[in-house]
Amino acid sequence: MTTHVHQFPCLKDNFGVLIHDSQTGATAAIDAPDADAVIAAAAAKGWDLTDLLITHHHADHTQGIPGLKARYPKLRIAGPAKEASRIGALDVLLSEGDFAHVGDIAAKIIETPGHTAGHICYWFEEDAIAFCGDTLFALGCGRVFETPLSVMWDSLVKLADRLPGETEIYCGHEYTQSNARFAVTIEPDNIVLKSRAEEIARRRAAGEATLPTTMAQELASNPFLRAEEPEVQAAVGMTGADPAAVFAEIRTRKDNF
Ligand SMILES: [Zn+2]
Repeated sequence: MTTHVHQFPCLKDNFGVLIHDSQTGATAAIDAPDADAVIAAAAAKGWDLTDLLITHHHADHTQGIPGLKARYPKLRIAGPAKEASRIGALDVLLSEGDFAHVGDIAAKIIETPGHTAGHICYWFEEDAIAFCGDTLFALGCGRVFETPLSVMWDSLVKLADRLPGETEIYCGHEYTQSNARFAVTIEPDNIVLKSRAEEIARRRAAGEATLPTTMAQELASNPFLRAEEPEVQAAVGMTGADPAAVFAEIRTRKDNF
């Protein structure tokens, strides 16, 4: 294994993540929530930041850019082409199907509009790792700010179709415990969900992160990915409905939870 990932909490409930290629020494940060926290994490690992991979334009994912650029003047900053004007400072503009390189390892870009209109995910296919920003969370998904709800549903289906079950999913926030509280209102009898909720409570009580998750785990227990499942449709009184409409109902309920 030449690929190493280091995840650390920062700000109130964000995650910073570093991905390091030990073959070349290249290291990327996924998003820039807090420059000082990212710099400290990289220093603790003995890694020098070469790349920054931005998922979307929100301040809690981009506000560390100036501080990181000041610390690492050669930093190469990549991000969504569709949000280039809102983010600024991007050296590499990425669109669907492009690759983002970190030394000898590479991520395929998956466009996942919904949370923001230009949001992208980074899929390191060979390493079975995906950075999904604020699109997919453990037992949840991002709030839909910039597109119709059906667009977010299409993005989640795309991730579910593309990413093999064993793919490790890293997300922008530690929202899992509150997501679990909502998820059990939709599927109180889902055994996978119940045992996850217990494990999540144990981990949070111990001060541990609940991420990464896996796509298989999410498909089995994340209500936002399960809008096609008969038990989920029945739970919201929409048996036989269009899954996009079921997703919209679940997302709206969560917004008001
Ligand atoms: Zn966001």
